Amino acid sequence: MPINTDVVIIGAGPIGLFQVFELGLLDIRAHVVDSLAKVGGQCGELYPEKPIYDIPAYPVIGAQELVDRLVDQIAPFKTQFHLKQAVTELQRKEDGRFLLTTSTGTQFDTATIIIAAGLGAFQPRQVRAPGAADFNEKNIHYRITQAKKLYGKDIIILGGGDSALDWTLELYDKVNSLILIHRRVEYRAQAASVKKMKALAEQGLIREFHGMVRQVLSDNGSYRGLLVADADGNTHELESDDVYVFWGLSPNLGPVSEWGLDIAKRQISVDTEKYQTNEKGIFAVGDINTYLGKKKLILSGFHEAALAAFAVQKHLDPDKKIFLQYTTTSPIMHKRLGLKKDSI
Ligand code: FAD
Repeated sequence: MPINTDVVIIGAGPIGLFQVFELGLLDIRAHVVDSLAKVGGQCGELYPEKPIYDIPAYPVIGAQELVDRLVDQIAPFKTQFHLKQAVTELQRKEDGRFLLTTSTGTQFDTATIIIAAGLGAFQPRQVRAPGAADFNEKNIHYRITQAKKLYGKDIIILGGGDSALDWTLELYDKVNSLILIHRRVEYRAQAASVKKMKALAEQGLIREFHGMVRQVLSDNGSYRGLLVADADGNTHELESDDVYVFWGLSPNLGPVSEWGLDIAKRQISVDTEKYQTNEKGIFAVGDINTYLGKKKLILSGFHEAALAAFAVQKHLDPDKKIFLQYTTTSPIMHKRLGLKKDSI
């Protein structure tokens, strides 16, 4: 059975999170879907430890701290998050509502959709070398779901970040052989993990290799290994049963671009009154949208989320008179925020 709701927000980046708040103030509950395993969008995924200097009232705030504070701010609304699943399909229903389906099969029957999908869904960066397409998701994997399946095998791990190093340290004594290939000498992973990995390589328990994947090798249609070029351009054939790739994630607009919405330069066109797309009931806020004068800034997205919330309220109940209320003085807002009398 699809989940019946007034609003689905696609994307739990900073703007999707603040959208929950703005809707909550108007007593509208939303379900939030994100392809990532955690909320925070670009702030959490691309630059959690970097400082941001242009959030009003914060001379400086860390990107992850901003996400944490947004999560605190929406706590009163007990939002349901549906993480690790991308929204893939949109169907228009005859009654004007929408049926949304995610990559894990969750379905929503919703009156409105707010697309806060930023740069798109984050997907693992794929191996694009010649021959890779034949073995992607067969012998070339982008996640490890059951580590036990790798025990006793010859494996190659690609990457230099925390995921690549963590799996190397976890698996080196359980697999038959492990080659760690990273394109650079410097690693992005934690220094302690790099130190442990180097010690294993010195003891000959793993092989550490620096180079670029040039080709995926096969014999009679079966995967055999990788052809890797070192810093001097010399190529090496490195054989394995399987390859595990941890090159991080990159955003991909993906299915959202195929839903028949007006798109200009990979962004969804909206008006600046409601932040509505060319389709009634579908709104777009944050980095995903475009309009005359658009600036891809967090504070612009916050403003868009406030106006989109009022527009959603109007869409849900066209006859209802909407009054602007201040959170400082409105008892009804205090109630929605769950404030206790003595804290007001
Ligand atoms: P995002 O943060 O991109 O979040 C979108 C979310 O939607 C993602 O989590 C994604 O997984 C999800 N998603 C997308 N498609 C789907 C789908 N189909 N199904 C499910 N989930 C989906 N801005 C500033 O204002 N000040 C700064 O100082 C600043 N510094 C920055 C520094 C760096 C290094 C970078 C990269 C950006 C910076 N920005 C800054 C920009 C700011 O991070 C973005 O404007 C902001 O993250 C946009 O938020 P968003 O919620 O619209 O999108």
